[in-house]
Amino acid sequence: MATLTCRQLSKTYPGGHRAVEALDLTLEAGELMVIVGPSGCGKSTLLRMVAGLEAISGGQLIIGETVANALEPAERGIAMVFQNYALYPHMSVFDNMAYALKLQRRPRAEIERRVHEAATLLGIDALLERRPRQLSGGQRQRVAMGRAIVREPTVFLFDEPLSNLDAALRVQMRLEIRRLQQRLGASMLYVTHDQVEAMTLADRLVVMRDGRIEQIGTPMALFEKP
Ligand code: ADP
Ligand code: ADP
Repeated sequence: MATLTCRQLSKTYPGGHRAVEALDLTLEAGELMVIVGPSGCGKSTLLRMVAGLEAISGGQLIIGETVANALEPAERGIAMVFQNYALYPHMSVFDNMAYALKLQRRPRAEIERRVHEAATLLGIDALLERRPRQLSGGQRQRVAMGRAIVREPTVFLFDEPLSNLDAALRVQMRLEIRRLQQRLGASMLYVTHDQVEAMTLADRLVVMRDGRIEQIGTPMALFEKP
């Protein structure tokens, strides 16, 4: 049932720095796994290897039943939501959300259906004609999530998605992500610096240190440990 398996996954950067060391990790189907740990412990490197944005130095990445080490990013069935949203400033919200599907040469009707379904799910139907600069931070974050959702990925990756939002909005978006995960039955790997965010979102929590897993378990189990 696992959607994602890392077997002895490693990353050594040119120059010899070992950012991720022989990491074993299994993301179950429908699971929201949150990764925390000090800056520089390898969280982003791990996500980027899973997404195909960073070459894997050793071990195996298995997505579903497929060894994915050599797959192109677009072939992995994975969508990543970034901290800085990475929206195309010159495109409307609709076009931002439709972009990846247009690259895949999906039929127009399917693109429209998927964009409208995602927009409805996120409550941004009324914003589809706007440009990113005409949106609030929270709205931009929703568009970034919409861009991921329309691709109907097997796994969502989140790299500190809420860190540019104010505290109240962060709480609201957390609930939103939880709701989406339940509605979509999605598997999610979620990196954050924010302890509260980690505790409230995670089905399971991974604490990384120096490229390794220091602890893994439910928030409750980890919280109760001395
Ligand atoms: P985190 O996301 O937990 O802050 P990173 O994955 O960004 O950690 O970085 C892990 C380690 O790898 C850090 O020591 C960082 O300096 C190093 N690192 C990250 N990217 C590169 C790179 N492109 N080249 C060399 N070293 C890198
Ligand atoms: P994908 O197919 O995964 O959406 P793209 O090939 O469209 O990826 O782009 C790679 C990344 O670079 C994306 O996250 C995208 O948002 C960002 N990017 C590329 N061009 C622009 C741009 N003009 N403005 C903002 N972000 C951009």
